[in-house]
Amino acid sequence: MLSGKVVLTADHTLMSDYRHNEFLGFGACAPPNFIPNWLYRWLFFPPIKAENGKPAAAPYGLRKIEAQLLSEGFNVVTVSPQHLRKYLDEARVLGIHVMDPFGLGPASSTFASILKKEPFLAQYFRALMENPDMQKAKKQGMKIIVGGPGSWQLQYRLNFVKHYGIDCVIMGEAENVIGKIVRSAMRNEELPKFYEVPVADAPAVDEIPDIVNPSVNGLIEIGRGCCRGCQFCSVTLRPLRWYPYEKIAREMKLNIEKGRAECMCLHAEDVMLYGSKNTIPNEDKLLRLHEMVAKQSNSIAWSHCSLAAVAAKPKLFAQISEIVRQKQAWWGAEIGIETGSAELAKKVMPAKAHPFKAEDWPEVVKTGMGLMHDYRLIPAATIIVGAPEETEDDVIRTIELIEDLKDCRSLIVPLYFVPMGRLKDEDWFKHAELTGAHRELLVKCAEHDFRWVNDLIESTFAGKLYSNVLRSFYKFFARLARYKIRQAGIPLEA
Ligand code: SF4
Repeated sequence: MLSGKVVLTADHTLMSDYRHNEFLGFGACAPPNFIPNWLYRWLFFPPIKAENGKPAAAPYGLRKIEAQLLSEGFNVVTVSPQHLRKYLDEARVLGIHVMDPFGLGPASSTFASILKKEPFLAQYFRALMENPDMQKAKKQGMKIIVGGPGSWQLQYRLNFVKHYGIDCVIMGEAENVIGKIVRSAMRNEELPKFYEVPVADAPAVDEIPDIVNPSVNGLIEIGRGCCRGCQFCSVTLRPLRWYPYEKIAREMKLNIEKGRAECMCLHAEDVMLYGSKNTIPNEDKLLRLHEMVAKQSNSIAWSHCSLAAVAAKPKLFAQISEIVRQKQAWWGAEIGIETGSAELAKKVMPAKAHPFKAEDWPEVVKTGMGLMHDYRLIPAATIIVGAPEETEDDVIRTIELIEDLKDCRSLIVPLYFVPMGRLKDEDWFKHAELTGAHRELLVKCAEHDFRWVNDLIESTFAGKLYSNVLRSFYKFFARLARYKIRQAGIPLEA
């Protein structure tokens, strides 16, 4: 074992199990609002239990890094942020996992521009960095390395990086490089301030270690990458890899054995394409995967799926729903609608509708959303506002599509365009650029969400006595939010 300890952590908004509902995690993207901060945190991102400072579960990406470093012989411990003090004296390296550290991600930047305040996740990240024990350890020579899906944001905050003495920021899949960088840090060698992992260094499936401690909400990857090539997305730049059943089963077993069997959240950019080499779902593999998970877990969730894959195989989707609903009444996933305009779809996401044609995108959305409604997958769907080349007519088509989806049980979240992927050199969309049509689109999304929110709360907190209490809190919060929006002069339907 290498001498010196590596301590891994993340801020409070990431060290939560969101009451076993990933949807609630969206709450950390909002800024402080009309209820006290402590109550908001209790509702949306309560702290995860920790024993001796070690969290019962941690973000999956952090667990992967922990596993990789352990496999290379490092002395590693993952610690909850409120317990850092106890571990920092011995730490030679502190690794910090970030998701959206400055609130520049699409959801948080949209909420922040509308409410004109810094989102919770940015506030908690700064609070973590301001921890006096961390600054003390830094003065004694500890190195700070930041990584995770949101690490790109530090490029836009160079003063922050300097001020808090961040030694190295890793962007991309780090399994093949983290050991080398941590080793250099321990030898006090100069580290690259920013290190973007080249696509060629993305690990192959057999180079990705299994996690060795539980992940938040039983999240386990079933694959990485995406073949659809949307221009605004950075995931698509990486190779597509699917994990074999055995690897998935091992991580599932680990979570179950360590007491996290409440839920297994299958993570991929499109769970419906598990094991597929193109955009047509592979029936055998998908059914086998779900049967395997259903046998062992108390409930199943998906991280993401595509409307096109659901619409392409309605019968298969119905079969999967049947397997999932042996365990639960519904399940959730994030999906991307992005636009209701076939013209814009052709320009910025020509393969999103595949195997259907891009010009059929609005119909694909309606079919996919209708199937999700019928078979009780509840989607949290995103819409991009202000994509490059978007015209007024594109926005009007999106408004019409949302009206057409009004009977589909879902949340629809509008997100201001953030330059990423092949569009990373484009300009950010700014609140001041909102047109009348954009405002109408935002109102339509809010009306849609308020129409469904009580149904979603009922579905989420059905059953137990404790759930009844929570349900009342969330319903009260939703009513208050609606009241405040109308009070601000925004014309929501009665
Ligand atoms: S389908 Fe989703 S993950 Fe795939 S490229 Fe498009 S936005 Fe990215």
